[in-house]
Amino acid sequence: MKCSLCGLQFREETARSACRGCGLVRKCELVKCPNCGFEMPCEPEWLKRIKMRRQNKDANNRQS
Ligand SMILES: [Zn+2]
Repeated sequence: MKCSLCGLQFREETARSACRGCGLVRKCELVKCPNCGFEMPCEPEWLKRIKMRRQNKDANNRQS
């Protein structure tokens, strides 16, 4: 996913593990950018699917 603050692309798994130390809630539902530390809600599955579909469409358009 992409950080909405600094624009860094990072793996959600990496961000999740970075947030394990927050200690407030066991599962805080936030992902933390490994670059700037900005915390944001992780992308829901439906949003990922839409984005993936859009990317595939773009790729197809480029080919034709
Ligand atoms: Zn960031």
